Amino acid sequence: MDAVRAAGESGWYILGPEVREFEKRFAEYWGLPHAVGVASGLDALELSLRALGCKPGDKVLTTPLSAFATSLAIIRIGAVPVFIDCDESGLADLGAAERVLDQRSDIRFFVPVHLYGQCLELDRLTALKERFSLNLVEDCAQSIGSSFGGRPSGSVGQFAATSFYPTKNLGALGDGGAVLTSSGESAAVLRVLRDYGQERKYVHAIIGANSRLDELQAAILRRAHLPKLDEWSARRRRIANIYREALRNPLCPPLPAASGSSSCHHLFPVLVPPARKGEFIAFLKARGIQAGEHYPIPIMEQPALFGVSHEVVGDCAVARRICRSEVSLPIHPYLRDEEVSLVVDACNSWR
Ligand SMILES: *Cc1c(COP(=O)(O)O)cnc(C)c1O
Repeated sequence: MDAVRAAGESGWYILGPEVREFEKRFAEYWGLPHAVGVASGLDALELSLRALGCKPGDKVLTTPLSAFATSLAIIRIGAVPVFIDCDESGLADLGAAERVLDQRSDIRFFVPVHLYGQCLELDRLTALKERFSLNLVEDCAQSIGSSFGGRPSGSVGQFAATSFYPTKNLGALGDGGAVLTSSGESAAVLRVLRDYGQERKYVHAIIGANSRLDELQAAILRRAHLPKLDEWSARRRRIANIYREALRNPLCPPLPAASGSSSCHHLFPVLVPPARKGEFIAFLKARGIQAGEHYPIPIMEQPALFGVSHEVVGDCAVARRICRSEVSLPIHPYLRDEEVSLVVDACNSWR
């Protein structure tokens, strides 16, 4: 409430000191040189792609197992998502990416997702980017605080896009997002893009968007939520560790963790027999436990994609299997120990 009052009393509501201060703190926290606040995670992805020159008809490699926004950002530009399968941990299969890029020279963009809080193998991602001169936008909406080999997610691509949707690890009290980059020049382009393409007052150098992070959300994020993030992340880690140690029902094992990834535990997925997924969710619900699904429908099968240009490489069998089997157990900083035990007991007693 102090943050809301400060923003309200300041008399300055768009692109002022709160956004500037938050961007500075947020970039420091993430460990990348520049952050640019935008209106949402979707916009962060779309504006990053546009800053890299992505235009209608361009092919963009991505994953079918993600929030719809990942592909929507590509489609809104008029570009063409090319879906590759994911690996057993739900992350874009970098081996499959390499094979496709090896065979085709018409793909210059890649949007992988650090899904569920896990971090992709950044050394392999770096090698891919260099070998194929890729324009890389990392979808980090679920990965604040995740790392691989001591490097944060988002540190390989030209841009990292993240979201402050209220349920994310660092949520605002409304919509918000940010783009992170190590290039000052790229950050400057993003600042122009988010503000109608306005280079200086009344001079519009490029076609931009209205996509600004509000002063109010920036104030809440910097003054109230960012200072708590380490504590919140520690609590998520503790809950994930309890689940990993205590869940022992072979009917609902945890999704295998990505190798070498230090996760921020945005979600805690388990896999159940596909034919019994609804029954499992109802079983938990009857015990007062709300479970989620991330994600029940692979993106290429969404009705909105009918008639919209896209490509599917191979059968994406792993992604489809995870969509049919995945259930997300509750994991958030305010879950109490008794509640975690309740979830564990429910899962272990499911027959
Ligand atoms: C939430 C999310 C987005 C979209 O963020 P919004 O702020 O809701 O637009 C994009 N990608 C992934 C992986 C997400 O989880």
